[in-house]
Parts: sequence; C-alpha cells; structure tokens
Amino acid sequence: MDLSYIINELGEEREQYFNAVAPPIIQTSNFTFKKVDEMRKLFKDEYSGYIYSRGLNPTIDILRKKLAALDEAEDCLVFNSGASAIFASVLANVKAGDHIVSVEKPYSWAQHMFNVILPRFGVTTTYVDGTQIENFERAILPNTSIIYLESPNSWSFALQDLTAVAELAKAEGIITICDNSYCTPLYQKPLIMGIDIALQSATKYIGGHSDVVAGVLTGRREMMAKIFNSEYLTAGNGISPFNAWLLIRGLRTLPIRLQKVTENTKVVLAYLKAHPKVESVLFPHDESFPQYILAKQQMKAACGLISFYLKVEKIEDIVKFCESLKHILMAVSWGGYESLIIPGCASVTPEAYDINQKPQRMLRLYIGQEEPDYIIQDIDQALNNT
Ligand SMILES: *Cc1c(COP(=O)(O)O)cnc(C)c1O
Repeated sequence: MDLSYIINELGEEREQYFNAVAPPIIQTSNFTFKKVDEMRKLFKDEYSGYIYSRGLNPTIDILRKKLAALDEAEDCLVFNSGASAIFASVLANVKAGDHIVSVEKPYSWAQHMFNVILPRFGVTTTYVDGTQIENFERAILPNTSIIYLESPNSWSFALQDLTAVAELAKAEGIITICDNSYCTPLYQKPLIMGIDIALQSATKYIGGHSDVVAGVLTGRREMMAKIFNSEYLTAGNGISPFNAWLLIRGLRTLPIRLQKVTENTKVVLAYLKAHPKVESVLFPHDESFPQYILAKQQMKAACGLISFYLKVEKIEDIVKFCESLKHILMAVSWGGYESLIIPGCASVTPEAYDINQKPQRMLRLYIGQEEPDYIIQDIDQALNNT
C-alpha cells in the first residue's frame, strides 16, 4: 500500500460525514441500536462494532486502520499511553509461573512491570544482553512465554537481530514483542521480520507535537482480538477520540517531519563529533557504533536521538552545560518539534556525583524541527560556557 494513500485516505469515509476533509471527533460514550438482535450481537462480540467507547469508536478506528497498514499488520489497538500498550501486550501473554526473557534495560516502566508487578504472580524475568543471539538461546526455559525486545534502545541504541530472535522464538513457541518507538514503522517494520507484536509510544514521533500521550500495538487479528476482549476492555486504557484525532493529524506530516529530524540529526552529529570538548558520541548509523552493520541492515534510517559524553572534570560542568542551553529544553520524552536534552546525572543526587560513572556523564539529545544551525549555535555557546 502507498504511504501517501495510508496517510491521506485509508479509513476515511468522507461521504459519511458531509465530505469533510478532516475526520470528525466522535465524542460519544455510547451508541444506539434500533434492533434487539443487533444489540445482542454486539454483547456477544464487542470487537465487531460500536456499542461503547471503552471498546471501539469510529474516530479511533480510522487511526487503527492507518497504523495497522503502516506496520503491514492485520490489526492494531491504540492505548492512552505507550506504557499501557506494553502492559497489555505482556499481561495478555503470561500466566502464573511463566518466564519472560527481556532485553536488558528496556523502557523503565516495562522494567517496573517485570521487576515489581509480575513477580507477585510468580512470573519471573531474565534480562539478557540482546546484542548476541546466543544470550537469548541460553536464557530460554521450558516455561518461557515471551521474549521482550526494544530495538534500538532509546539511550544506548543497543539493537537485537530481530529476524534471528523471531526465528528462535517461533521454533520454541514463544511470543515476541518489540518496542519500535525509536524507528516508527517508517524506518523499521518488526512484524515483517517475524516479530509477533510491534509496539510504539505514539507520544513520540506519531503525535509529534508534544501534546498527546498514546501507545500502539500491531499484530495478527487474532492476537489483537485476544488483547481487546480481555486486557483492553478490562483496564479501560484505550485512547480518547480527541487524542486519536490528534494522532491522525500527526500522521499527515510524519514522513516529512521524520525526514527533517533525520537530516538535522546528521548535521548536529557531525558538529558534535568534531568538537574538542566532546569525548564520544553514540548513534546507530555512525560508523563508530558497535552494531553499525546490523543497524544499517535492519533500520532504513536513524534519527532524532544522540547520546554523547563531554570531556569534563566534574559532574557540575555537565550541570552547567545543560543549564546554559537557551533554546534546547531540558525535558523528558522526544519525537516532538522541539529539541531536548536529558543529563544522566539527573538520576542521582549531587552527593552521589561521580565523574567516573559513565551513565552519570551521559547526555541524551533529541533533535527536533528547528534549523540545524540554530541548534548547533545553542550547543556551541553552552559548550563555550562550560
Ligand atoms: C516513551 C517510551 C515508552 C512509553 O510511552 P508513553 O507513551 O510515555 O507511555 C515506551 N518505550 C519507549 C522506548 C519510549 O521512549
């Protein structure tokens, strides 16, 4: 299917709403029936039509069709956060006593689920360095039900060979879930590589304007129906029609925004690499990246996020650098129009500052839609001040 068709037309039945170009926000909790029999049908199978907006809703359905098509998936569910999409995809595929193999350091709230919530139900997790397929082979137990992946990781950019892991999991009857927030379906399609469930935080590039929190799951129709009929309806964590509408709007410009972010990032990366005060950079499509070859094979492009280390004598110098930035905002998240920075040292108290701890020295930069010179000038004046 053409990308332009998916973004501009798919799912939009304009003649049903006065030929309006933009879709309506169907802001309703419930839907009426003329026939008892029709109501009975929906009671029996809520995934087959509109009855109540905790389940299906027409505005959200337009978005679901587009997001499924972008991933070349049979079906899609949209959640009110990326974290709730993670939660539902994992919970739907484990039972008491099961075991999960997860790539090390996945998104923090996935870790919380594995470390704090699931152990209460006797579900254990083994974390592996996902850069080597053997580590997955070794970690699998007879009761392993899920392999949880995030490729690339949004801090270290560590990748997993998705085709190899999917093959291994299939042979063992294990479900694979891959967090694809970094790439979006435009730069990487995990389902095509054999992964069972692709997930993303739509808060990032899909929303693109730092004004919506949302999450996406894509996969086979049967898997999405299973999650819908159980976790999705029970937890009630679907997206609101208005937020779905904002994501449809975000999708209209996703290709051009990603393109701009990708181009900007290349320019800023080259600047950072050449600066005497920069010790090193981490970026998956840079030749210095340890998994550069796999990154080139697996991802159409790399964008937005750069991690780097400054040559400084004390952590306070990093604090000074961050606080000297005038345009790049210090904030969590990424994928919006605005450039952002997070210092690793924000995770520890000043008493614990230790320049020898690499994670404390790490800086993660997100490059937004500004002109690259504008971003570089800001970094430059902050570095001169450090
Ligand atoms: C932000 C993020 C999430 C969580 O998404 P929310 O929409 O914030 O709940 C999950 N995975 C990755 C890699 C993320 O960056």
